Amino acid sequence: MSRFGVYVHVPFCSSLCPYCDFAVVVGRGDMHERYCDALIDEARAQRDIPVATSLFIGGGTPTALSPPLLRDLIERLRAVLPLADGAEVTVEANPESVTATGLREAAEAGVNRVSIGAQSFAPQVLRALGRTHSAEQAANAVAAARAAGIGNVSLDLIYGSPGETMEEWTTSVRRALEEGPDHISAYGLTIEAATPFGKAVARGAMDEPDQDDLAAKYEIACAMLDGDGYRHYEISNWARPGFESRHNILYWTQGEYAGLGIAAHSHRDGVRWWNTRALGRYLEDPTNARDGSDALDDRERAEEWLSLRMRLIDGVSLDEAAARLGRDVRLAAEACEAAGLITLEGDLLRLTTRGMLLENDVTLRLL
Ligand code: SF4
Repeated sequence: MSRFGVYVHVPFCSSLCPYCDFAVVVGRGDMHERYCDALIDEARAQRDIPVATSLFIGGGTPTALSPPLLRDLIERLRAVLPLADGAEVTVEANPESVTATGLREAAEAGVNRVSIGAQSFAPQVLRALGRTHSAEQAANAVAAARAAGIGNVSLDLIYGSPGETMEEWTTSVRRALEEGPDHISAYGLTIEAATPFGKAVARGAMDEPDQDDLAAKYEIACAMLDGDGYRHYEISNWARPGFESRHNILYWTQGEYAGLGIAAHSHRDGVRWWNTRALGRYLEDPTNARDGSDALDDRERAEEWLSLRMRLIDGVSLDEAAARLGRDVRLAAEACEAAGLITLEGDLLRLTTRGMLLENDVTLRLL
């Protein structure tokens, strides 16, 4: 069966993290039920939707919904959307809003994977990131997921936060490992212009993350997470064998997916489109929420394929790259190899750790 994913965006959060560029609605508990009804209306209006091999309920903070409401949403989505047997069903969760009861209800509704936004295990770093939970709550969330019988638990970490020391980052990775998740994501902090951090940088009140600091912390993550039962399968993601995120692999392989909810993106038949970010407009008519679309031509599609594929640690076939791009990239690849950015093994090109840090540059050199 070919893979197809459904992404469902639940935008509600208890507060706004200053680095966050997602479509987020703070508070508005009065809107939760109505928004869930709108999601179901939008799901019902999907035409000729293929059987989904993954359902990802992200945010925002899906666990900001009350446990019965989240359960009801998942059950109604499953009743409306065709879902394959054994589909990966993920819910994103923030430690401050995770309860054992909530995760048990989610598991009973079919959730088999939970992605917990721990971000750090250092109190000072959590404060700097504007997170409202403690390290202990993140650990408790993992335990609650296990107690609920959820067999696939992922932890998200962020490195390069303001004031974060090497020791704090090392401790965060070690604490994450001690919790024994099946999957770990580690992303460097990026500053987006429209966020409070972006505005602070623009007015000179805060520094951009230091590139050398980010590189050193990424290397620490690679050294600590590679091995130890985890496989580095994407630049920023590690998993125990068989626990790679099936849904996210769709994004990295130009797979097709439907997005529901504000700001959700869809991709089918070579066209990408996205919904409005405006909650009011979405609630007015969720079946007519499209805000824009984009169709890549063959060359753009081939270039996008290469830039996404480069992120996967399994590497890129030079023959396939040549076939898609319509030209040989071996000479450019050999130059990157000489610069220590990739390794070449027969037909296969793989980024080195240094190359992963400079993935965009390497891709541009190949293009
Ligand atoms: S919890 Fe996540 S989605 Fe919500 S504001 Fe913070 S970073 Fe953004």
